[in-house]
Amino acid sequence: MEEKSLLALVEKLNQEHSLRREEWEDLIRYRTPEVSERVFSRARRWARCYYGNKIYVRGLIEISSFCRNNCLYCGIRRGNPNAQRYRLTKEQIWDCAQRGYELGFRTFVLQGGEDPGFSDEQVAQTVAGLRARYPDCAITLSLGERKKEVYALWYEAGANRYLLRHETADPRHYARLHPPELDPVYRQNCLWNLKEIGYQVGTGFMVGSPYQTPENLAEDFLFIEKLQPHMVGIGPFVPHHDTPFAHKPAGTAELTVFLLALLRLQQPNVLLPATTALGTIDPKGREKGVLAGANVIMPNLSPMDVRKKYMLYDNKISTGDESAQNLANLKQRMADIGYEIVVDRGDWIGPQGLASTGRARI
Ligand code: SAH
Repeated sequence: MEEKSLLALVEKLNQEHSLRREEWEDLIRYRTPEVSERVFSRARRWARCYYGNKIYVRGLIEISSFCRNNCLYCGIRRGNPNAQRYRLTKEQIWDCAQRGYELGFRTFVLQGGEDPGFSDEQVAQTVAGLRARYPDCAITLSLGERKKEVYALWYEAGANRYLLRHETADPRHYARLHPPELDPVYRQNCLWNLKEIGYQVGTGFMVGSPYQTPENLAEDFLFIEKLQPHMVGIGPFVPHHDTPFAHKPAGTAELTVFLLALLRLQQPNVLLPATTALGTIDPKGREKGVLAGANVIMPNLSPMDVRKKYMLYDNKISTGDESAQNLANLKQRMADIGYEIVVDRGDWIGPQGLASTGRARI
């Protein structure tokens, strides 16, 4: 495939925000450094158009490492007897949020395994407590697949957003990453339910997960076009030594940032995090992500003594610049590349938001 034709595809995506299946496949399969650079510069323009040079931060609180699922890639899978299990109390979660609020966080993300020991009602009480204490903050949940009634209960309690990666939109690929009892259609249906209830939703997938092909990734882009999520979280697959995928190769930062930039062109106003996994495999991962169009970073706010226990993959960073307590370092790193971390809920900006932020700037 000639570079000229690939660059033409980039311009088409930049203008129409949509490609056909084969076009996604070609762009991903035959990408070159020059094509990537073009995608990055277009992606930065769109991010700037909606969000200026602002980077939103979310305080990530990992509330439980118990999980009833057995995903083949994940370090806290049920079948890992060596995983260290913990569950935070409501009070511990509120304390984390208080520390985060003082540091300038206005979004809290409560993430965890699907832990039956943390009842639906307890989650609702935890959320309600946060809502009462921080009326000016967004509350995001990332607690896996639940019944629609449960999502509704949590929404009523005050949650605003929900992150649930679809993981892969190809059912055959999904079946190679998950045990048979997990159903990709059920998971995708959760996302539609969440949207219907009124949540801002985030989906996403791992980059370079075992057996992933450009065809699979094209399917992911088509699914995202249909779903129209508010957020898309992607990061490289990183092996965990106590899982069936211990010896599978990790995804690359290069492909991750390329796909981040394609997502920005597909959905110019989407909220796009430069994820922890990207920061884990590349010390400059955060910067590279932002320069490819990402506009969100999620530093770790979990209590120090549990951070090493929420090990989804080997070497997952949770201290240093990854720590919410060291926000100043991250601020400096972003300032060095021309971006500014802001104290803001960082809500999704609808397409009409262009009028107020000024299209003239691109
Ligand atoms: N139980 C919640 C949260 C899962 S952890 C849920 O089901 O949504 C958040 C994300 O971490 C997962 O969606 C998955 O995409 C990612 N993840 C898990 N194991 C990983 C690994 N080995 N490498 C990279 N990312 C991983």
